[in-house]
Amino acid sequence: AKAQGRANYQFYSEELNRSAMARLDLERKLRNAAAGGEFELWYQPQYRACDGQAIGVEALLRWRHPQDGLIPPDRFIPICEDNGMILDIGRWVMEKACAQLASWRNAGLAPLRMAINVSARQLRDTRIIDLLRAQIERHGIGPGELEFEVTESSVMERPDEAAFILGRIKALGVSLAIDDFGTGHSSLAYLKRFPLDRLKIDRSFVSDIEHDCNDAAIVSAAISLAHGLGLEVVAEGVESAVQWAQLKALGCDELQGYHFSRPLPAEQLEPLLRAALNL
Ligand code: C2E
Ligand code: CA
Ligand code: CA
Ligand code: CA
Repeated sequence: AKAQGRANYQFYSEELNRSAMARLDLERKLRNAAAGGEFELWYQPQYRACDGQAIGVEALLRWRHPQDGLIPPDRFIPICEDNGMILDIGRWVMEKACAQLASWRNAGLAPLRMAINVSARQLRDTRIIDLLRAQIERHGIGPGELEFEVTESSVMERPDEAAFILGRIKALGVSLAIDDFGTGHSSLAYLKRFPLDRLKIDRSFVSDIEHDCNDAAIVSAAISLAHGLGLEVVAEGVESAVQWAQLKALGCDELQGYHFSRPLPAEQLEPLLRAALNL
């Protein structure tokens, strides 16, 4: 048993070693990524449920490594949140998204809302207010044109700090959405604490909504709750017309998902937006 324990230990330490090495390697590559212009911002459109009109886009970060190819955000954002790199990356995302919003508006693709994902770490740094104000002034961004998406867990880490900073962001005319609703925190009390505009129902409740009556019940309750609080509801991960119809029937305001469009680079999304706006 002792020998086996030792073997196990060796196995584990090799495993740990390997993952630690992989992480170090990734961190090293990440440090070059920003400088090397390896980050890209892709956009996934959001649609009004009642008539399918495109009303906004969500900006989603992509990392194109010269050797490893496209690396999905779930693989590197948690690391950047840990080591603080998310502050610089988040700033780049904000600048890029605001410039894109202005460029689409100037091309007559208005009115579109641009939603940006913001990490807990970014909400702990009050410099975000000045960065945001500068972008808003520079690009003449109007109230409600820009939206921040924050998760339940990221605002509940330090709720007082989050309430303060979200209040200031909101005062700049930026709207606020709770992302991944239903997956983070068990308490709903936070919903009245933060100046929210929208609630995004997590994909996990949508993916099987046509077969799972529990999911349908949860989504229906979340919509009632949100509407009761004066919030709009976006469903994430809509992959079929059946799901669209069901979400519409449940009173969901907006939809986003592969059924409508995958996230795309700006140039590829543009013709789609023009078509949707009948331009
Ligand atoms: P999220 O904010 O929940 O974004 C939605 C994710 O669902 C995106 O994955 C999107 O591509 C994917 N998705 C959209 N529609 C569908 C669908 O119909 N079916 C399925 N299966 N998936 C769908 P993505 O782009 O890989 O992003 C993953 C996560 O990475 C995001 O989840 C967000 O938490 C984070 N992230 C992405 N960009 C940024 C960023 O700029 N800053 C920060 N802090 N986080 C980001
Ligand atoms: Ca999001
Ligand atoms: Ca989400
Ligand atoms: Ca998510």
